Order: sequence, then C-alpha cells, then structure tokens
Amino acid sequence: MRAAGTEDNGMRLKNIKGSREYIAASEYVIDEEIMASHKGKWAEEVYGNTRPLQIEIGMGKGKFITALARLHPDINYLGIEKYSSTLLRGVQKLEADPVPNLRFLRMDAEGIDEIFAEGEVDRIYLNFSDPWPKDRHAKRRLENKLFLRKYYKILRPEGRIEFKTDNADLFAFAVEELKDEPWEVIGITKDLHNDEAMNAGNVMTEYEEKFSAMGNPIYKYIIERKGALDS
Ligand code: SAH
Repeated sequence: MRAAGTEDNGMRLKNIKGSREYIAASEYVIDEEIMASHKGKWAEEVYGNTRPLQIEIGMGKGKFITALARLHPDINYLGIEKYSSTLLRGVQKLEADPVPNLRFLRMDAEGIDEIFAEGEVDRIYLNFSDPWPKDRHAKRRLENKLFLRKYYKILRPEGRIEFKTDNADLFAFAVEELKDEPWEVIGITKDLHNDEAMNAGNVMTEYEEKFSAMGNPIYKYIIERKGALDS
C-alpha cells in the first residue's frame, strides 16, 4: 500500500495523515479490534510458539525493542505505543527488515491488564517514559503505584520490570512508589553508563542516545515481583 507521510517534527511525530490506516494494514501490527482476544494465548496465537513474552510500554519508534528482538530470537517481543504517528516509523522499518519474533501494538497502557492474562508476561521495559512533571498528572506516569499493580498482575511470579530515564524527578518518584508494594529492587543506578555491572549488555534506546549525548546521566532500576498484592 501507499506509504503514509513521514514528516518528522522533532522527537515526536504528530498526526501524520494516514498513519493509523497504514499501521492497521501491517501484518506486524496486532489488530486493536481483537487484541483482547489473545489474552492468555499471546505466545501461541501471535507468535506460534510457547516462548516467554516481553513487552516495552511506550516504545516510541521502536529502536530498543527491535534491537533486543534481534539479539534474542528465542523470546517473543511486543512493542506498545500510544500514538500511531510515532509507531508508524517502527512499522515501516520492520516491514523493510522483518524480525520474526517482534510485533507492535497501538494502545494506551491504561488497558494493559485487559489484554494479558495473569502471569502471561515475562518482563516489562519502560524507557524514558513521559515525566508528567505537574503533581496533578502523577496518575499518568507509567511508574506510579496503580500502573505497577497492573504490571504485577500480568507478570509471572518473579517477573521483572526494567526502567530507564534521564529524568531525576521521575526516577525519584518511581522509587518512592515502590514503598510498601510487592517488589524487590534487584538493581539500581543513577549513572548507568558508568556502572559496569548494571550496564553490561545494555541496549540503548533512541532517547537514551540523545540524552546521554547531551551529558545527562541515565537512571535505571530493575525490580522483581515479590510477595502478594494487597487488594
Ligand atoms: N521508549 C522510547 C520512547 C520514549 S518517549 C525511547 O526510550 O526512545 C515515551 C513514549 O511513550 C512516547 O512515544 C509516548 O507516546 C509513549 N507513551 C506515553 N504514554 C503512553 C501510554 N499511556 N501508553 C502507551 N504509550 C505511551
């Protein structure tokens, strides 16, 4: 089909005409209409196997998850992004150079626990999430307690979340949100690229490259599901 326009307005692509239609037609993109029907059967129905499923929420143009999927062909990867204009770039790259164990999905992370069964996800990556600096927007931050509880439900026991950002305030908030919640901190650093152990095997995201080139240190935590969720 005809490619949609790809004007780049800086870090985020907005409202590119036809991007929604283009994405919907791609064989590498999960159909939004039936995404919930894969609940509990993602590996089998989408990837045709029984391998672990790892997801990135807010994948942007997908540089990180595409690199990861190429490195680990024995893991199923799903990149999730809210905006079709942003996702479009990842889809076009994937179509030009397919990665069999990678799919994309356009959705808002709010509904994440409606499309996966309990324990269905092996790992969640959160990279350079929108910081939402105003207090009244704290509920939109993807690292808040309410989101963490949704992630808890869909992760397998001992499943992990890996979170990276260059935003000191967002990172401090994210760490604070772990208090009295069923997570164990497996690793934490305020300067990933100068932390040999934490940086081993690090795959850079698009934002990570941009912000570290500007001299910003990168913060990272790895947390593991531990204990029970109070309801
Ligand atoms: N992970 C990429 C992009 C970071 S920018 C990188 O590190 O380079 C944050 C991305 O998260 C944006 O593309 C934004 O559209 C997406 N995003 C923000 N809120 C979201 C939500 N609620 N659900 C899904 N994606 C979201």
